[in-house]
Amino acid sequence: SLRCGFVGLPNVGKSTLFNALSDAGAESANYPFCTIEPNVGVVPVPDDRLQTLGELAESAEVIPASIEFVDIAGLVEGAAEGEGLGNQFLANIREVDAIIHVVRCFDDDNVVHVSGSVDPARDIDVINTELLLKDLETVEKRVERTRKPAKSGEKEAQQKLDTYERLYDHLADGNPARTFPAKERDRPLIKELFLLTSKPVLYAANVGEDSLPDGNAYVDEVRDIADEDEAEVVVISAEIESQIAEFDDPDERTMFLEELGLDTPGLERLIRAAFDLLGLITFFTAGPKEARAWTIRQGTKAPQAAGTIHSDFERGFIRAETIHFTDYVEAGSESAARDAGVMRAEGKDYEVKDGDVMLFRFNV
Ligand code: GDP
Repeated sequence: SLRCGFVGLPNVGKSTLFNALSDAGAESANYPFCTIEPNVGVVPVPDDRLQTLGELAESAEVIPASIEFVDIAGLVEGAAEGEGLGNQFLANIREVDAIIHVVRCFDDDNVVHVSGSVDPARDIDVINTELLLKDLETVEKRVERTRKPAKSGEKEAQQKLDTYERLYDHLADGNPARTFPAKERDRPLIKELFLLTSKPVLYAANVGEDSLPDGNAYVDEVRDIADEDEAEVVVISAEIESQIAEFDDPDERTMFLEELGLDTPGLERLIRAAFDLLGLITFFTAGPKEARAWTIRQGTKAPQAAGTIHSDFERGFIRAETIHFTDYVEAGSESAARDAGVMRAEGKDYEVKDGDVMLFRFNV
């Protein structure tokens, strides 16, 4: 499944957020929550549509899509040189689909800051510099390796060298790989480098209660950086989230949120934002046994979407009988939707839309 990693300096609130997420996941009764490893948790992707669909389809069970969070502890200055848990840390980052960069945006004299003061721009820079240094090392090695064949006149190698060198300069100027203006034909070349700074980034600006929901001057600093970085920002309070996660009674939880002037917990916004950041959409399957949400990338065709359920579905794909969620709700049931003519038979070139309810027909 989809994996997001929390990074950030020590003491900025990563573990607090991670634990709140784990508790929130543990409470979702319909979801087999598990903590895979002490620092890896799986949580459901919140989606109100799924519950509605489950009721209409009279499904025995409702199974949301899931997202994995990894708490990647211990990045300090010098990590790229192997300082602290440096290399281990960077290896963990390589395995995630997206980075959630937690930034301290709250004042609290009781919580020590590793650099002595609260300064989001400096903190972000420390982390991003470590990632950049590691990427520079990676690209430099490629440059070295490509130089010889390029010199001996191999045309393909010359082209590669040119790309690597431009990428190197881009990184050396302090820019993340994800903002590199790559030509279409160079994209696969860059992708196979698995650069840390090519991953999508979501800044989680960790604020105190009084800065919810809009933020504060620290958050504005983060927003400015995110704009330049092609990254996103979510304002969240780790402390409040851990309190929200403790409510067992949904009504009490709603009241607590209302008192704070919030309509949804920050964690839900964080999960949704990660989802959007990665260009992911949801399709559903619904029957008497279960109603279930599935995650795919935008642009995925019907057979590949079927493949996320089972490889046999993809291999033997014939067609997908599809009702959009809104049509399903309007009709009230699958058979009513069929009668109303809003069920479509879609073939192998159909691009699945967010909210499609699908029934796959396949050969075995
Ligand atoms: P980590 O090292 O990044 O994992 O940071 P922790 O989650 O362990 O948090 C470090 C300290 O900051 C803990 O004492 C937390 O209680 C505190 N902390 C975390 N988030 C907040 C917050 O939103 N407000 C305040 N005042 N303290 C927080």
